[in-house]
Amino acid sequence: IAHVRYATSGRGEPDVLLREAQPFLMGKLALAFNGNLVNVSSLKSELGGGSCDVELMAGKLLKEFRDLPSAVESFMRSAEGAYSVVGMTQEGEMFAFRDPLGIRPLCWGKANGLYAVSSETVGLDINNIPYESEVEPGELILWRGETVERKKVAESRGRALCAFEFAYFARPDSILNGGRPVYKVREEFGRNLAREHSEIAKKADVVISIPETGDDAAYGFHEQAGIRWERAVRKHRFITDRAFISSAAQRELILSRKINISREIKGKKVAVIDDSIVRGDTSRKIVQQIREAGATEVYLFVTFPKIIAPCFYGIDMATFGELIASKQGEEEIARTVGADAVCYQSLESFVRATGLRREELCLGCLTCQYPTPLAQRMADHMREKFLAGEREAGRIYETLSL
Ligand code: SF4
Repeated sequence: IAHVRYATSGRGEPDVLLREAQPFLMGKLALAFNGNLVNVSSLKSELGGGSCDVELMAGKLLKEFRDLPSAVESFMRSAEGAYSVVGMTQEGEMFAFRDPLGIRPLCWGKANGLYAVSSETVGLDINNIPYESEVEPGELILWRGETVERKKVAESRGRALCAFEFAYFARPDSILNGGRPVYKVREEFGRNLAREHSEIAKKADVVISIPETGDDAAYGFHEQAGIRWERAVRKHRFITDRAFISSAAQRELILSRKINISREIKGKKVAVIDDSIVRGDTSRKIVQQIREAGATEVYLFVTFPKIIAPCFYGIDMATFGELIASKQGEEEIARTVGADAVCYQSLESFVRATGLRREELCLGCLTCQYPTPLAQRMADHMREKFLAGEREAGRIYETLSL
């Protein structure tokens, strides 16, 4: 089991991070998961403590453990949140299960008696393992030697795949939910942006993209608008930090080391394609770098619609107050980030491009309508505080039970 943890639960001290690195070992189980539990407080009370959500998951599975299917079934009955899980038992059984809404991706494949589970299809591709299928929402798959047992352990009320996977998280060569490769979806995002904001698109001399999540959309934008795609922004090959998940000070530093902008754009009006605006500080820094490279006008086109609400399912967007679009309209955002205009893709076009129906996606951070009840109550509670000008607590799911 290999796992890169992007922690949205538990404490941040190095020794704690190390202890909570996954696969997490407890009793007879080894577990790794992608996602975030929302009802952390109630699980903590039930289990008498616990630090991060993977520890709570392991504790809950082991409590009254008879066999794996019944343990997972009982876990799914009491847990709320996003969880795509892979694990092993001490007896050598491998298993995978996914929350009843399938908020995070999870798939599996097989080749010559070898079975593999991966968050994204690209994990199978690079190991030459043909894709077999998704781990379905609410499903447990158990591999014992040569046998594969698939069991629906929770009734699924539908699907709610995270929309942000399409814009930012997923690798472009992955396929989500058995649809088209993500890069094809992103190309369509770019065409949509050029269509929806054609008057502003027309003003640009060249289109540039923020690598790598903006690249495919820039290609689509270039196709639709007929504007040259100038590959003037390059990413340092060996700096792999993600600016999005770092502190504000680190973000600035990472960006200036990671992104280099050619002065070939000097004297030009540029359309810039980026995946999202979360807090606004990253966009401000990028626009500043583009102007320093000599661009005369900067129009920022954003593939992910306006992020107006926090995420409780494993993306580090914790409060309303930190999200620029929960406080400002497009024109004000443009002023804040120093752009001549900011153009978002509309929600309708975004959804259409994914090939999924609106009700098959989680759009919580875009609409403030969440697919699970406790997340909705938490968002409503935080929103009230935000609108009243009070301070909101981050990672509210770790402290509050509603
Ligand atoms: S709230 Fe937003 S980021 Fe979080 S799972 Fe839903 S779509 Fe994804």
